[in-house]
Amino acid sequence: MKRVPAALAALSLLWLAGGALSQPETGARTSAGQGFPHIVRVRLWYLHPPPTLKLIAEPGPARVRKCAGCAESALASLTLRAVGSRIQTEADKSTTQEVRVVGTYQASTGNQPTLKADFPIDIRANEGQLLVTASIPMDEYIAGVLAGETGTFKSDETLKAMAVTARTYAMHFGSRHALDGFDFCDSTHCQNLRISDATPRLRKIVEATAGEVLWYDGEPAATYYHANCGGTTEDGRFILGYDEQRAPYLKQHSDTYCVRNGTSQWRSEVSKHEVQRALVAEGVNVPGQLRSVSVLQRTPSGRVEFLTVTGSHSITVPGLTFRSAMGHNIGWDRLKSNWYDVQVQGDKIVFHGRGSGHGVGLCQVGAEVMGEEGHSYREILAFYYPGTRLGVSAQGIQWQQLTSEDVVLFTTRPERDRFLLPLATRMMHEAEESTSLVYSGAAKLKVYATVAAFRDATGDPGWVAASTRGNTVRMQPTDILQEAGTLEATLRHELLHMLVEEHAKPGTPLWFREGLVLYLAQPNGPMRTSNNFESVSALEKALRSPTSEQQMRQAYADALARVSKLVAQNGRETVIRWLQEGLPSGQ
Ligand SMILES: [Zn+2]
Ligand SMILES: [Zn+2]
Repeated sequence: MKRVPAALAALSLLWLAGGALSQPETGARTSAGQGFPHIVRVRLWYLHPPPTLKLIAEPGPARVRKCAGCAESALASLTLRAVGSRIQTEADKSTTQEVRVVGTYQASTGNQPTLKADFPIDIRANEGQLLVTASIPMDEYIAGVLAGETGTFKSDETLKAMAVTARTYAMHFGSRHALDGFDFCDSTHCQNLRISDATPRLRKIVEATAGEVLWYDGEPAATYYHANCGGTTEDGRFILGYDEQRAPYLKQHSDTYCVRNGTSQWRSEVSKHEVQRALVAEGVNVPGQLRSVSVLQRTPSGRVEFLTVTGSHSITVPGLTFRSAMGHNIGWDRLKSNWYDVQVQGDKIVFHGRGSGHGVGLCQVGAEVMGEEGHSYREILAFYYPGTRLGVSAQGIQWQQLTSEDVVLFTTRPERDRFLLPLATRMMHEAEESTSLVYSGAAKLKVYATVAAFRDATGDPGWVAASTRGNTVRMQPTDILQEAGTLEATLRHELLHMLVEEHAKPGTPLWFREGLVLYLAQPNGPMRTSNNFESVSALEKALRSPTSEQQMRQAYADALARVSKLVAQNGRETVIRWLQEGLPSGQ
């Protein structure tokens, strides 16, 4: 399936009047004051940094910058190689310290799946390895985590529960790699990320829960999750990093859902020699030669808390340490969980166990059964994280859905926002009539509760009133738009965008689509002349990634002037036809 490049999807950035929102611009944080920036920096190929990287502008366009102060140039194809701590371009052997790539492009390392990207990456080198850091909108990151962590879930409700869980987890644990200059790695150390495998379905799931987080005591909860609890979840105090004051919702409780289809039992065996080697590698020195392993103490759930490991004499080893030693040095498939019995058979240690993962928090197998049995994602989250509150802010506000024939409205304040439903329906009909184009889908409107929630969810700055992605318009709180006097203009603009985008021939430049929307919103406005950008490509670039509100305004003015001129010269019908058939060359 083809993904919609973000640069094309975040279509409209309409400003708010008068800089009324300059104040909320400070600090891209959620309303709780401890959220996460809407753009997260993710280290790709964290466990195996590639020595070389081949970049191609597919589907393109893409641009490359080969040093901090250098000018950008168009990227066609480029192969980079790490030479010590410098990056060498294969074609001309020139070297540099850092490379930045933006646009839509593919990156391949040779031995790992090709990355299809529409986000900027920054590349550096260290000891012959390329360190690649991507800047990704939070929601796109969550969709990639769902692709990496949820395998083949069938239930949408389970996926929604996982989307909230993954988002909350990221916000709770925050930037684990801040000292290395990025937020998350793409491995299970943070959360397993498969950004290229994020499907439209997963994006829809993320969108449906946009901004929703599980809160406890005003903070994002520590939403640990695991594959299969085996019938009883584990109390949080038996894993590392647990803070009872902060996470009383991580309680041991029985899970009848995940054992519906039988308990997941497993058996594995490892030679004594391998066990000893793994322990030593983890820093546990077994005296003499390892002779036996036995369970010393179990947690109330039945999981192994301490083991006795006997060589020339006996030592006590925590179950967590034992399992990570095995995992890191032999493989995580040997001790799938901490719930097992141990037997010594000749020179082998044999494990019989159940479940998979640490057992704390949400059990993915159980959650999937709950979803398939018709439970909502709210019920799934309440079952696995009892006592937390779901909401888009610390106050626990929830999305409500209002529907008319053509419009679906998502709001956290239905009483306040209900009037948008007939208004948007009427505006869409007017837009269809005036263009003779028909919008085939149902337009979705999402009104965020606060400026911060809007900014966190969309990745747009606070001076942006609304933006459209696919068939969803995402708006600032209605009272803020009303105060600024731009509510109706904003809504009309975004609905026109949906219509225009649905009918635009692929590859139609943004200045034309944007200018056409602006023209259609006010077809009888005065004739405009505006020429702030010396070239079409400079204008296109400013529209795609404006550096300031002022630049955005200038770019809009230019786009409108260009399209107005085309309409004056060729007639309105012709210009609308160009939208569908493509611009004639030279325009
Ligand atoms: Zn990590
Ligand atoms: Zn379970």
